[in-house]
Amino acid sequence: MTGLILENVEKYYGSACAVTDVNLHLPEGKLVCFLGPSGCGKTTLLRMIAGLETLTSGEIRLDGEDISHTPAHQRNFGMVFQSLALFPHMTVGENIAYPLKLRGVGKPEQKARVSELLELIQLQQMVDRPVAKLSGGQRQRVAIARAIASHPKLLLLDEPLSALDAKLRESMQVEIRQLQKRLNITTILVTHDQREAMTMADIVVVLGEHRIQQVGTPIEIYRNPANEFVADFIGSGNIFAATALGNGKVGMPGGEALNVPISNNIVVGSNIKMLVRPEDLQLSLPQAAAANQLAGTVTFIRDIGATIETTVDCSGVSLTALSTPNQCVGLSIGNLVSVTIPAEACRVLSG
Ligand code: ATP
Repeated sequence: MTGLILENVEKYYGSACAVTDVNLHLPEGKLVCFLGPSGCGKTTLLRMIAGLETLTSGEIRLDGEDISHTPAHQRNFGMVFQSLALFPHMTVGENIAYPLKLRGVGKPEQKARVSELLELIQLQQMVDRPVAKLSGGQRQRVAIARAIASHPKLLLLDEPLSALDAKLRESMQVEIRQLQKRLNITTILVTHDQREAMTMADIVVVLGEHRIQQVGTPIEIYRNPANEFVADFIGSGNIFAATALGNGKVGMPGGEALNVPISNNIVVGSNIKMLVRPEDLQLSLPQAAAANQLAGTVTFIRDIGATIETTVDCSGVSLTALSTPNQCVGLSIGNLVSVTIPAEACRVLSG
């Protein structure tokens, strides 16, 4: 099978688990994000793929070949770390040519490849400039050009954008994604920033508590999180406790019943957790009680211009709704409102 396969991969440092039970198939040409909170094992997993860390057990295969014990320098993978690790005393051209020189590529061929890569990253005029005299974004591009200079089979990026300011970071996300698509190079990006993962990835691998929690497209993970951990980590969400009532209904702590898509397997009377995304809630001025509508009091409003977040207390359950200025009904803190929770927007979460 083509692509990268990880089978029962795990890594322990002494008795401490860094990552366990990793089973993954990463198809060719895709950009895959390892996403998760600090310490969940993302970097360890990437370093095992790179050959910079040994496996405690399991197997890694690339295009059918077992590479679990292949030394890093024989894997021909391009890597970019947070630090970038460019050589400050060298020029842009020398930095990009470095891996080619190491591989014994002849001078004319090095020159041709460097100019091809400079064109790709739009820095043709800067070949002789020392990297110390580049902006953060330009350095970033040089690091990527150097990583892909020798046509690697895999590009591995470990939080490469985390040192950049928010605006540059967002534009680099788009730039790297466009470059990756143009080159069709299989890429793994480690990040703890869910917005970055959603912007860039074909496939997101959510890691938590040293294991994979879910694998899916960004929208699958956002809309249908596999469990409470993923629901909480991806995007903002209203997660609240409810009780299964049977007949497609759940009971809210305030006693109201909501219609929701709930499996018949959930025992009537059991305590469950529900997820509703803020953009799915609708606010209106108080109305006569209707299905899937709760009465509440506005407790907080965050108006950031393009969107307005309104937090409403509904009998002890705090729900936040996200609206655009056009949808807003002109609320203030303390106002009474009706909150509509569309049945199809509700997800019952497993633990
Ligand atoms: P971050 O986002 O903070 O970089 P991460 O998800 O990449 O975190 P890892 O760096 O892979 O997490 O670490 C996973 C776990 O393994 C952590 O608990 C960490 O303390 C532990 N760990 C990592 N490297 C070592 C090491 N060399 N020796 C001992 N424990 C380690």
